[in-house]
Amino acid sequence: MLTAQNCSMRMQLAPPQPPDKVKVLCSKCRVPFREKVKNVREGFQVQCPNCTKLITFSTDSADPGVQRAFTEVRRIKNGMMLSINRGDGGFSG
Ligand SMILES: [Zn+2]
Repeated sequence: MLTAQNCSMRMQLAPPQPPDKVKVLCSKCRVPFREKVKNVREGFQVQCPNCTKLITFSTDSADPGVQRAFTEVRRIKNGMMLSINRGDGGFSG
């Protein structure tokens, strides 16, 4: 268990912020883009900035990119609650 402690330095360090965006993989052009965590919710629609495909966030979506985004958001929110920072960067396309 690590406790993050700020040393009394001149510069005030901001507390570590959880990421506010998650990676979404477009199922059409396969190009990942980043969408705000708060936008990844049931029924929200976003256009892929690369190919302008309309992506609908839904937990029922058959789109693995959408499902992955939901998983990421859930993980971020859990991390915020538990304030545990575990190194886990196994997201590669
Ligand atoms: Zn696309």
